Amino acid sequence: MKLSELTRRSWLKNVGLGLGAAGVGLSLNSSDEARADFVTKKVATRGKEYSGEEAVPCKFSNGKVIRPASEIPTISETDVLVVGGGPAGCCAAIAAARAGVKTTLVERYNHFGGLATGGLVVHILGHWTRTPEGEKLQVVQGLGEEMMKRLEGLPNGICDRQFGRNPTVDSEVYKYLLVEMITEANIEVFLHSWAIDSIVDDNPDPKTGNPVVKGILIQTKLGPHAILAKQVIDCTGDGDVFATCGCAHTRRVYHIGLPCRLGNVDKIKPAPGTKVPGHLLGGVTPVKGVRWVNMGGPDSDGLDVRDLTRLELNHRKQIWKNYLQVKNTPGCEDVYLLETAPQIGVRITRVIEGTEELTLENAKAGKTYDSCVGYGGAWGGDHIGWQIPYGALLSKNVENILTAGRSICGAPGMSELLRVIPNCWVSGQSAGVAAAVAVQANCTARDVNLNEVRRILKEQKVYLG
Ligand SMILES: Cc1cc2nc3c(=O)[nH]c(=O)nc-3n(C[C@H](O)[C@H](O)[C@H](O)COP(=O)(O)OP(=O)(O)OC[C@H]3O[C@@H](n4cnc5c(N)ncnc54)[C@H](O)[C@@H]3O)c2cc1C
Repeated sequence: MKLSELTRRSWLKNVGLGLGAAGVGLSLNSSDEARADFVTKKVATRGKEYSGEEAVPCKFSNGKVIRPASEIPTISETDVLVVGGGPAGCCAAIAAARAGVKTTLVERYNHFGGLATGGLVVHILGHWTRTPEGEKLQVVQGLGEEMMKRLEGLPNGICDRQFGRNPTVDSEVYKYLLVEMITEANIEVFLHSWAIDSIVDDNPDPKTGNPVVKGILIQTKLGPHAILAKQVIDCTGDGDVFATCGCAHTRRVYHIGLPCRLGNVDKIKPAPGTKVPGHLLGGVTPVKGVRWVNMGGPDSDGLDVRDLTRLELNHRKQIWKNYLQVKNTPGCEDVYLLETAPQIGVRITRVIEGTEELTLENAKAGKTYDSCVGYGGAWGGDHIGWQIPYGALLSKNVENILTAGRSICGAPGMSELLRVIPNCWVSGQSAGVAAAVAVQANCTARDVNLNEVRRILKEQKVYLG
């Protein structure tokens, strides 16, 4: 067959992306093994040829850009689809897979961990609370505790892990651990895949009349592909999926920073009479001499590409200035800029409108919920924790979509606490189990049996208060 005779579908099949193409196998097979040496093959093969006729570009018509309608190839069908491989998404995917359903995880970057790795946010706040008697209590258990324990077993994985303290992890070790745990759980993974749209059933839900989510579109180097799913969990942090399928939400601005890491901080020999700028040296990490430096940053819109671009440029100038200030201080000459965060530090953007909203007032008053599926803790364990009601994860107007992590339903003031890493682990694990139970019961996420969800969460060692 000549290339010009290929349909778009058969062309995609030829390049390995037709219906039923297998997901990414995570086991290291021999053909994947790369040697740590120089490239020895000098000439690449000529490869397949494409005539250009298979491309489907947008049309520029009457001054407007129009995208032509075209069929999208389906790359995978799954039970639970988790979008975003940050703290919430990894826990959601692992929890769903461990609960026994086929689980798929989509991530736009090349690693797992989200802001906790790629954003160099390595300080684990908020898994402690105080009991009414004033005692500290670790409320984040389940997968959060399992990960911290496993990091202890890896070289330079975690430091300051003592009762009542907030530990710090190493971003690279945490990335590795997540690969290990996701591989063990047999999760189908698509990296380098941006969720760009959602797929909604032609027919609304017969009971509620709400739209029903059927999956998402991902953008890859070979164009868009569909992933179909029985339940979708939006863990993009920014609600990229729930916004496209019509879920009610709010859009907030909040400060956006860019953390970095400094090396050789242990080599500082303060010269007599000079003051080392300690506030620019950040906090300790598990690696000797390496510090991570957090950054607040101005209130900005983390969804606006112009804001994000401006901040990237300004923050890099600021980091360089701070670094030179340290390096030019007598006694600090050996300090070097190890890395700036590969991904910008967006804290809060879209927050879903759930069927229940968490507020600071209710949390402080110790409000309890019949629908509790998790328990969160404050930054330094300085006040009591709060129950997380299932409705904070559940869209109020679209079926079969949950969210977890920093985008769950919280009022201003409360979202700032819900977003810390351990609380994202918790809501992720709860959403994963709830989605799995809905698949197993063949019901919507709204109608899921919460007693069964809680039974499995307890089995997975989650603390529910
Ligand atoms: C500068 C800064 C400092 C902070 N300091 C602390 C601290 O000291 N301690 C603490 O506990 N917390 C801190 N936080 C908060 C914490 O890091 C985040 O709130 C937490 O990581 C959120 O987890 P998440 O899984 O909800 O989202 P994220 O960590 O944002 O993960 C979302 C994931 O989804 C992926 N994704 C996004 N969009 C798409 C898409 N369209 N398609 C595919 N994949 C997508 C992302 O690449 C990412 O992997 C800080 C945050 C920032 C920004």
